[in-house]
Amino acid sequence: MSETFDVVVAGAGHNSLVTAAYLARAGLSCLVLEARQEIGGDTSSEELTLPGFLHDSCSTAHNLIQASPILRDDELGLTEHGLEYLHPDPVVHLPFGDGSSLTMWRDEERTCAEFAKFSVRDAEAYRRMMADYRRIAPDLGRARYTPLGFGETSGAALARQPDGARWRRRNAMSAWEVIAGEFTDPHTRAFMLWMSFMTMQPPERPGTGLLAYSLTYGRQQHSWTLPRGGSAALPRALASVITSHGGVIVTGARVSGLILEGGRCAGVETESGERYLAREAVLSTIHVKHLVEMAPAEAWGEDFIDGVATWQPGVSMFVSHYATTAAPEFPVDGGVGVIRSVASGTPQSADRMLRLATDFRAGRIATDDPVLLVLCPTVADPSRAPDGMHTLKVVGFQPYELPGGPERWDEEKAAVSAVNLAELRKYAPNLTDDVILASEVKSPLDLERMNEHNWHGSCHGGDAGPAQSGDLRPVPGWASHRMPVPGLYQTGATTHPGGSVSGAPGRNAATVILADLGRSMAQSATQG
Ligand SMILES: Cc1cc2nc3c(=O)[nH]c(=O)nc-3n(C[C@H](O)[C@H](O)[C@H](O)COP(=O)(O)OP(=O)(O)OC[C@H]3O[C@@H](n4cnc5c(N)ncnc54)[C@H](O)[C@@H]3O)c2cc1C
Repeated sequence: MSETFDVVVAGAGHNSLVTAAYLARAGLSCLVLEARQEIGGDTSSEELTLPGFLHDSCSTAHNLIQASPILRDDELGLTEHGLEYLHPDPVVHLPFGDGSSLTMWRDEERTCAEFAKFSVRDAEAYRRMMADYRRIAPDLGRARYTPLGFGETSGAALARQPDGARWRRRNAMSAWEVIAGEFTDPHTRAFMLWMSFMTMQPPERPGTGLLAYSLTYGRQQHSWTLPRGGSAALPRALASVITSHGGVIVTGARVSGLILEGGRCAGVETESGERYLAREAVLSTIHVKHLVEMAPAEAWGEDFIDGVATWQPGVSMFVSHYATTAAPEFPVDGGVGVIRSVASGTPQSADRMLRLATDFRAGRIATDDPVLLVLCPTVADPSRAPDGMHTLKVVGFQPYELPGGPERWDEEKAAVSAVNLAELRKYAPNLTDDVILASEVKSPLDLERMNEHNWHGSCHGGDAGPAQSGDLRPVPGWASHRMPVPGLYQTGATTHPGGSVSGAPGRNAATVILADLGRSMAQSATQG
């Protein structure tokens, strides 16, 4: 027996849920199949340590999605379905080894004053960069939420700016070149490099220049934005939209094969032998490395198979979760006061940041002066832990591939986690042993075990260098969500415009599918 729907969706990360929500609102019957017991993928929140402590297993910051039509125009009615965002202040606090620190506050002038502690000239550079980017941010945002082939690309948007020549140059430069050109002080340079690295793209690589602007600007605008109740509040609200429009979501259902009929993708089958048929379309957020195994080679064509074979996972993360009785407290003003911040980190120095990618490529576990991102969401959202308690996440950046194989992580991870905690304690000495109630460590290998879409530990949909960007993402020739097998569409972080919690690949896939079915996004937005 097979069940039939208009659209069958494989995977329930936030992107495919976004697509399904638009399609369901447009009147299509949707089935979503998720391999895990929980929906959300990298936007999951789970009791990883102790009951009552809800940890964000992967993402915490939902920044890119803030300026999207999904939230800005509330196209899916997500607020009605319980989604609420918090905008913490301070935004992020970065302490340095010499006892100084730089804090980003929601008030841009207050952030500039922090830069001015180190250099008045650098404070002026920060103010100028934010003002410059503010002028182009709406155009770049529009391009991001436009599928390729459906409107202006970001490259074209940059080129038509009054100062388009400058922006094209900045775009082609590396983040480090932009930062070294604008800032003089070692602390402000390290701060800006750390910010520009937040989507894991090596900051010395040509083509990362705009990240020196965009990541800092996004956080200065929206803060280290987090959903009340945990990262999973987003997939939960999306699921509520889907089911309230007649959609069905099944968890614990791993898709293992595509059903092809007459050369068309007519549905999927699951590991447990269920078959689900799709009248109109199958949408996948299965990793492309796995997807190509789910149909015969001739269905894909040699170029597509080559494009998947050469796909690179990029920099991976190493995550330690803690249940604690206190948030990190960073002494400031010579020890007179402390700062408690949802987001903090240790950039160490520009040199250390620039070495990250070299260590990574060499498969080296680098534990000297660890560069860290530290998140304590309970500082702004106490609902995630029992009264007065906290969830703490300490993120480092380590390779998936190790000499001897990625399985070596199972032996190495406790030691690496201990080094990261020791480093954090240098800056937040209140995090003593008695403050930590329990912990759980996720190596790059564990992140893949948790979510198979994190192929080889890839965290942001894989590398976003020139070979895997724009019309080359995920595979040259197949960047508009349509796959070589007719009737099959692909979304998720491996597709244009890429990773992070943006909903952009999901909304763009909906635009393409609805257009192919002779419908429009406007229909979807008005049938709520
Ligand atoms: C540790 C970590 C921290 C991060 N932090 C941030 C952050 O703070 N801010 C930010 O913006 N981004 C962050 N990211 C990146 C961001 O979370 C991801 O890029 C994004 O959530 C990916 O969403 P997605 O919808 O494309 O896919 P995913 O969230 O990867 O979802 C894919 C889903 O498909 C399911 N699936 C896969 N194969 C099958 C199959 N065969 N059958 C059925 N189901 C299947 C998976 O189980 C999963 O649920 C982080 C990522 C990681 C790993």
